[in-house]
Amino acid sequence: MDRLNIVSEKRLCLGCGLCETIGKEKGYRVALSEETGFYALSLPRERDPQIEKEILNCCPSVNLSGDGSGSIWGRRIKAFNAYSTDPEIRHAASSGGVVTSLCLFLLKTGHVSAVLHVAQEEGNPLSNKLVLSRNRQELLSRCSSRYAPSRTFHDIRDFLDSDDTFCFVGKPCDVFVMKRYLDGHPEYGGKIRFFISIFCAGMPSYNATKEIFARHDCSEADLVSLKYRGNGWPGYFAASFRNDKTIKMDYATSWGKVLGRHIHFRCKICPDGVGLHGDIAVGDAWQTANGYPDFTERPGKSFVLVRTETADRLIREAVEQNAIVTENLDIDSLSKIQPTQHRRRCAVGYRILGIQLMTFGLFRIRKMHLFRLMMHYNPAKGLKNTFGCIARYRRLFE
Ligand SMILES: Cc1cc2nc3c(=O)[nH]c(=O)nc-3n(C[C@H](O)[C@H](O)[C@H](O)COP(=O)(O)OP(=O)(O)OC[C@H]3O[C@@H](n4cnc5c(N)ncnc54)[C@H](O)[C@@H]3O)c2cc1C
Repeated sequence: MDRLNIVSEKRLCLGCGLCETIGKEKGYRVALSEETGFYALSLPRERDPQIEKEILNCCPSVNLSGDGSGSIWGRRIKAFNAYSTDPEIRHAASSGGVVTSLCLFLLKTGHVSAVLHVAQEEGNPLSNKLVLSRNRQELLSRCSSRYAPSRTFHDIRDFLDSDDTFCFVGKPCDVFVMKRYLDGHPEYGGKIRFFISIFCAGMPSYNATKEIFARHDCSEADLVSLKYRGNGWPGYFAASFRNDKTIKMDYATSWGKVLGRHIHFRCKICPDGVGLHGDIAVGDAWQTANGYPDFTERPGKSFVLVRTETADRLIREAVEQNAIVTENLDIDSLSKIQPTQHRRRCAVGYRILGIQLMTFGLFRIRKMHLFRLMMHYNPAKGLKNTFGCIARYRRLFE
């Protein structure tokens, strides 16, 4: 089996949609599977080696590309906590509303003319889509995390062909794909001026959202609105339905008991949940209690890892012009604030090893320094991860 066959048939496709942009005319499609609740590539009968070369060059399922730092939290110039000075944005957003406020700042100051980011598809509250926002109202209505898949890149050329200049917001794998695609398309050089990566613990299946509906005896067919979190920090999973039914579920239950248990298998072996390729990476600056994140409701706060000089300049401007407020962050405390991310960065090399063996070398690994990261992890536990991962992978096909 060749690499793309393995990706599409062995449930390793993240469904980002780029294959469709590259190979639509030749029948390369990315479609939602009712069974898994994830988007996945379907290959045409007549394969095209030239198209597949380009797909494989960008594919986030195959390419594990690091920043060369070998550091758990990645290369960075600065790190701090922050929140939006706009109370409405701070309240509606996932954590501190920093992503939305920085996007708004970039628009207001003319650094970019539009923001490309993932939000709910208009008229279809369950579905996610890449959208373009140009003002505060659009950004505000589209902030906060969507804990479900998105076929983000299937029509990316339509956006890039416009006269706009963009800030791109996405999960770490989205930022990787976007940058890699642009590297191969100099005609779009300079179109994306700024990359914001959110931290990511993995993408839950659409079926996880439907499971929450089913637990409350609600049906997708009656869905009117759906927000996964926000309106507080961490806020609530909130859905409303045509028959006046509503669901309101706290974050510890929605993420901890349902959504987080249905994440894509490929995300479990992802070595970059920390946004290595963003100009900045942003996550939840949880308070901790007894050494663990504490999800008690309070005003939202994000942490920001500043990775590039461009980002450093922008943040200084944004602070000077009172778009965001920053606070001190002790980088060593991140391992307690984000224990899952910390553990995964250290253990993931062992998991990748298992799947690399099972797929006879599917992954192209560059600048990831997996062995250096593995040194932070107990080898016996690491090997347990290797075999556990192989077992889970095999169970996917039972
Ligand atoms: C699947 C998923 C897993 C996550 N896991 C973690 C984690 O382990 N640790 C952690 O600290 N944070 C995680 N986050 C990020 C976190 O939820 C917040 O997005 C982050 O803290 C930024 O908060 P904010 O208030 O500054 O962002 P906001 O101002 O609320 O802006 C959020 C931005 O994220 C974009 N976005 C929302 N959903 C998606 C999506 N599915 N794909 C791409 N872009 C999207 C929106 O378009 C918006 O621009 C995850 C987010 C997602 C979507």
